[in-house]
Amino acid sequence: MIKAKGYAAATPTTNLAPWKFERRDIETLDVQFDILYCGVCHSDLHQIRNEWFPGIFPMVPGHEIVGRVVKVGKAVTKFKVGDLAAVGCLVDSCRTCDNCKVGLEQYCTNGSVGTYNSRSKDGTPTYGGYSNTIVVHQDFVLSISEKLSLPAVAPLLCAGITTYSPLRYWKVGKGHKLAVLGLGGLGHMAVKFGVAFGAEVTVLSTSPSKEVDAKKLGAHKFVLTSDPKQIKNAKGTFDFILDTVSAPHELKPYLSLLKTNGTLIMVGIPPEPSQVPAFSLMDGRKSLAASGIGGLPETQEMLDYCAEHNIVSDIEMIDIKDIHNAYDRMVKGDVRYRFVIDMATL
Ligand code: NAP
Ligand code: ZN
Ligand code: ZN
Repeated sequence: MIKAKGYAAATPTTNLAPWKFERRDIETLDVQFDILYCGVCHSDLHQIRNEWFPGIFPMVPGHEIVGRVVKVGKAVTKFKVGDLAAVGCLVDSCRTCDNCKVGLEQYCTNGSVGTYNSRSKDGTPTYGGYSNTIVVHQDFVLSISEKLSLPAVAPLLCAGITTYSPLRYWKVGKGHKLAVLGLGGLGHMAVKFGVAFGAEVTVLSTSPSKEVDAKKLGAHKFVLTSDPKQIKNAKGTFDFILDTVSAPHELKPYLSLLKTNGTLIMVGIPPEPSQVPAFSLMDGRKSLAASGIGGLPETQEMLDYCAEHNIVSDIEMIDIKDIHNAYDRMVKGDVRYRFVIDMATL
């Protein structure tokens, strides 16, 4: 076994603390890389606090992982020692179901294996990126360009693909009015992709102070959702709303902002469900949809697109000892726009 160290939550009510554990020895098709940076996703907080479902503890969170390869299995063809490498939210899946066969491993009908808070096929828990090293089958390791700033690439592995994938699936682009609800980690990536794909992008936010940032990120318009006048003016104007909000919120007021035939796509996963009155969808034949991360081929496509178009995340680098302060700020909506842990501080 390979000795590893990281930060783990021992229980859903305790703070993260240094923890030593083991990774599997590399097998024929495995890649081991030393983790240099790991992004902090709101899903990390939902999971260490058991906000979605009972988790597997101790839990080492982190699924926006980048680093350099230190060892490869005998039959590995995709990577060599010294290459940059990345892992997102998935480390395995059945590879044989209809979804896996078309690259939708995130919807594996036999259950994909998450990077943490999940179990490998042999039943052992998986541990995430708030750690110094990781071992993953080459099929679930992504290639990244040397051209981009490495810490700013880390958030692409979740915040990036989670927003890229639905925008591509619904073919959002030129001629569309896209609203991004919530300007946090996912939201700011949605703005960047929406603008790059040619849509007119509006940020819907609870934070007046983010208006300037929204425009800097490329958004064309900004609506402060607490201002009834601004909401009224935005009624019936959007083709798509990408909802990235992490906390429970009503959908009805936002559905009223869609045009006829418009679609509200949920990517945020609040701990409690929302109520959706049928009238708010019926009036204008609107659709309510949701989307989960992205499969391996699309994640690689997104990373290549970002390298080509010079797209990275706007980040604030932190030492791992400051993770709880970062979580507190995240809960308050004060993320500008993704915390990334410098793993050298572990
Ligand atoms: P984040 O950085 O904390 O951003 C969430 C944003 O939502 C905040 O910055 C804030 O933006 C807004 N917000 C927060 N509380 C709110 C409230 N009570 N009412 C209205 N708006 C509120 O979180 P994130 O990392 O982007 O993640 C967002 C959500 O997506 C989380 O639930 C996460 O678990 C989920 N997620 C889903 C997937 C997937 O596959 N579908 C993947 C990754 C993450 P403003 O200040 O602009 O209002
Ligand atoms: Zn995430
Ligand atoms: Zn499958």
